[in-house]
Formats: sequence, C-alpha cells, structure tokens
Amino acid sequence: MKKAKDILKKMNAGVVSSCKKACNIHVLSRIVLWIAIAMVVAAVCVVVFYKPVRETVFVSPEIHTVIDVKSGDTLSKILTEQGFNMRDINAISKNLKQDADFATLRPGRDKFDFVRPKEGEAISKIIIENGPWNRIEIDCGNPEAWQCQKIQIERDTRLAYKEGEIAQGSSFYLSALDAGIPEGLILDVYDLLAFEMDFERDIRAGQKFYVLYEENFASGKKVDNGHVLAVSFDALRGNVQMYRYVKPDGHAGYYDEHGNGAIKSLKRTPINNAKVTSNFSKGRKHPVLGFTRAHKGVDFRAPTGTPIPAAGAGRVIARSFNRGHGNFVKIRHNGTFETLYAHMSKFAKGVNVGTMVRQGQIIGYSGSTGLSTGPHLHYEIIKNGVHVNPMTVKLPAIDNLDANNKKLFMEKKKQLDSTMESLKNNPSRIVRLTDIEIPTAVTVAEPKK
Ligand SMILES: [Zn+2]
Repeated sequence: MKKAKDILKKMNAGVVSSCKKACNIHVLSRIVLWIAIAMVVAAVCVVVFYKPVRETVFVSPEIHTVIDVKSGDTLSKILTEQGFNMRDINAISKNLKQDADFATLRPGRDKFDFVRPKEGEAISKIIIENGPWNRIEIDCGNPEAWQCQKIQIERDTRLAYKEGEIAQGSSFYLSALDAGIPEGLILDVYDLLAFEMDFERDIRAGQKFYVLYEENFASGKKVDNGHVLAVSFDALRGNVQMYRYVKPDGHAGYYDEHGNGAIKSLKRTPINNAKVTSNFSKGRKHPVLGFTRAHKGVDFRAPTGTPIPAAGAGRVIARSFNRGHGNFVKIRHNGTFETLYAHMSKFAKGVNVGTMVRQGQIIGYSGSTGLSTGPHLHYEIIKNGVHVNPMTVKLPAIDNLDANNKKLFMEKKKQLDSTMESLKNNPSRIVRLTDIEIPTAVTVAEPKK
C-alpha cells in the first residue's frame, strides 16, 4: 500500500516537473495557434468578399438540359422524360398549337432546351429551336401557367458577289463551284437561266458569268444563303441578265435588264442540266422504226427514275399510255401552249387528268416505255396545236411590270449594278440589304402630267 502511495507521489511530482519544463513550448504553440486563427479569418474574408465577383464573371445560375429530337420522339415522350405530369403536358401542347402553330417535331432538326433557375429546382422555361430563324419560348408563370411565345431571330442580310468563267472542258456547275458560288445557289441560278438557255448546248469555254446573292447572318455568324439578286451569263444568243425586284405590294419576281418578266410560262429544259440526246427536227431517221420521221420534241438523257418536273403551271389533260410515247403526261398551260412528257417509267402520285400542277412540280419519272432505245425524257411543246422547237420558240413571260413598277425596277437595277461594281473592286466590303432598299412608297403612284 505504502509502496503504491510512493509510486503515485513520484508520478505526480514527475507530471508537475515536466509541466514546468514545458512552459516555453506552451508559449510557442500559442503563437502558432494565433497565426493559424488569423489565417483562417483571412481565408473566410477572401471567400466572403470575392464570391459575388466570381458569380457574375463565369457561372450562370441557370441549368440547361438540351435534348435533340430523334426519330420516334413525341412531345409527350420528351416532356414525360423531363418529369412533367399529364396536366402540364396537355397545357404545353395546347399552347404550342395555339400560340406558335407548332404541332409536329422534326427529328434531327428541332432542339429542346429545358431551363431550371437553379440545380434541383423545377423547370421554369422551355426553349424550342425549330429552324435557324425561329425559336419558341414557353415560360411557366405563376401559378404554374405555361405561356408560349414565338420569337423570330433577327436576320442580318448581307450581299455577296461572285464571278467566274467556264473553264475548258468544264460545265457551268463546276465552273460556278470554282468561282465560290455555294452549291444550293447554283441550283437556283440553273432554275432561273433554264428559261433562257440550254445548259447542254449553250456552254462554251470562256463564257463569263456573275451572281449577286444574299447571305444571312445571325449575331455575326453566317447561317444560310438567301435569294439570288442578280445573275448574268454570256450565252450564245447574247448576254442573259436577270434581277430580283420586289414590288411595293410585296410580290417578288425576276426581270431582264429592260424590266421584262424573266420567268417564262414554260421552261425550255424541264430537267436541269440534262444532256440533249436528240433535237427537234422536221425529219430524222427514227432509232427504233428505222425510217425517216419528224422528231416532234427534244430528248434529254435521264436515267430511269429521274423526277420530271412540269415545265410550267397548268392542268393535266392526259395521263396515259400509247405505243409510241409509252407512259406520257400532257399539260395545257393556257389557250396557246401545251407540253408533253413521254417514256415515263411511272407517274407521280396524285397526278391525274384534271390535276392542276405548278411549275416545277414532279409529274412522273423517266424511263424507257413505248418506242424508246433507252431511258430518256422526250419533251414536246405544242403551240396552237402545232409542235414547235422547245429550244427556239419565243416564250411569253408570266409577269410583266406596269409603268410605275418598271420605273422603280430601273432604279433598283441601277443600285444592284453599282453594288456589284463596288463589291467587285472591294470584296471585303460589307453591304447590307437594308443599304440598298429603295423608298418605294414615295415614288409609287406619281400622277401623270
Ligand atoms: Zn424523242
């Protein structure tokens, strides 16, 4: 017992003496502790004072969930996946139909953006991107009422000028690509020039051409191309020029340099860029019958199944089969002109006797039915009951300008010409469509003296 007490005493004494020895160490650790506290306070201060700056600089509090519309998607499926209930889905789809005329989803093109104000909160806004120039915004106001708004994205339309010439052994298409004309626009130019030229026979090396067209920008970025505003081509029969002009009533059309309608009632070549394999003639040896017979139309090379567009607007007056023409369609365009399309492999759906067709509407597909040696389109133009040469017949314009519009057109043409001249000399210059608008309202309806 005594021994144990002694041991305890010794232990206590030991603790006291070691405490006394450690006094210097205690002072040191206190200093370290104060420094640490000071650093923590400083760190807290940094966080408190800099937090608002960081928020405005790089973090948007909104949370976006972007969904691309895939084939098989429905509005209801997409909304259900985002956690919407039936009541909301019905309200949203009703609003979309009523306020934005939006009913069908386009897979691969439309995009949904679900916006939450903060992580974990309910979706407060849905943005549907449908097409480069349209956006629909659906906002959830209070209390839980969805409101739909269609927003047109502002277009900044600029003008681009390209010129080129037909290279040796090349086509208009390839030469136009070389000149930097976008592919889609080349097809528009084809459509315009096909009223006046034959791309198979009228093309020669060295022929010069130019195009003035619109380029649409949004927030400084190019989105797509707009209209062809002017086109010129040195064709064999002379220079072909066309200008786009919008009448004060809003109707747009193409006119030649004198203000005459450039869009003709019929196209000389219904299929763009198709090679002519046989011309109109009063007498030629028939390839199947073997004896000399008039060729009452023009043959265009067209692999089986090539879509055949109507050369002009009109009413289908025959959709039938005969031994010579095989499957053929005949269209009456007006009191003067009819056209006929022969050797079709099949007719287009919905094209029957009595159907009204527009210019460019597909009426059938090429083939080799009837008396034919291979797939092609045999095309005839009949004027007042007489077969005429589609390549040379004078075709009436669909739309000619009245005196007032002609005056306005000539002003517009001058502007387009000087714009092209300036872009030619300075291609990097930015010219906007709004820069060349003419004050139509002022000049219209000027009283005659
Ligand atoms: Zn033929």
